[in-house]
Amino acid sequence: HLQVSNVSKSFGEGRDRKLVLEDISFELVSGQFMAMVGSSGSGKSTVMRLIAGLERPSAGTIHLDGELVRRPGSDRGMVFQKYSLYPWLTAAQNVAFGLSLQGRGKAEIRERTAYFLDVVGLADAARLLPRELSGGMQQRVAIARALATEPKVLLLDEPFGALDLQIRESMQEFLHDLWKTTGLTALLITHDIEEALLLAGTVHIMAPRPGRIVHTVAVQLDRTDLRHLRVSQPFLE
Ligand code: ATP
Ligand code: MG
Repeated sequence: HLQVSNVSKSFGEGRDRKLVLEDISFELVSGQFMAMVGSSGSGKSTVMRLIAGLERPSAGTIHLDGELVRRPGSDRGMVFQKYSLYPWLTAAQNVAFGLSLQGRGKAEIRERTAYFLDVVGLADAARLLPRELSGGMQQRVAIARALATEPKVLLLDEPFGALDLQIRESMQEFLHDLWKTTGLTALLITHDIEEALLLAGTVHIMAPRPGRIVHTVAVQLDRTDLRHLRVSQPFLE
């Protein structure tokens, strides 16, 4: 359960001080899939970095299961648009890396790594290096790595933004199925409003200068078949 309360963020000092986020509040409950969309510079990644603990709010608070977020931790899994993987490690080593940081035992690391590579459909790619994988496969490894540490919330910052349309659509279906089967809690940042509407139950729309939430949309769709939904229901004119 993630609680973001009246969070503002400025960068710089004195006359150069720039308000980047103003009074952001929302709540992400366990099992919920939430999205944020908004133009470039509206502060989406800054929201994510604050939740990740990579930045501190200038005002307001962020709590995860009642605990104040102060620094990065493996209770938040993160996937970025690019360079998500360590290029010198194999797919399996990338997944195992986060687990060893958590201090888990060797046997458990081996077991969990195999399990989560299988979850993302990449059991056969365990020994391959990132450069030997397609962009979509790399992002699936990144998702496996994030999930393997059992985060309370999965933070996805434009995870499919660098992928071709066709791969992007299959990744959207993959993520949707993953959410349905594992009940993960996710916050997805995207430029793609259709992607947000397809995947999330709640979508926050952000506007820039300063970055703020201007609309919150509760999406009610029958998502039994995303592919069908995409063809039959254009969301926007
Ligand atoms: P995009 O869609 O392009 O990824 P975004 O919505 O993720 O944009 P942010 O990256 O959060 O936007 O940036 C919001 C604003 O904050 C921008 O104007 C950016 O220049 C500014 N900003 C972000 N990080 C810093 C920083 N460390 N120092 C100064 N300004 C920053
Ligand atoms: Mg961004």
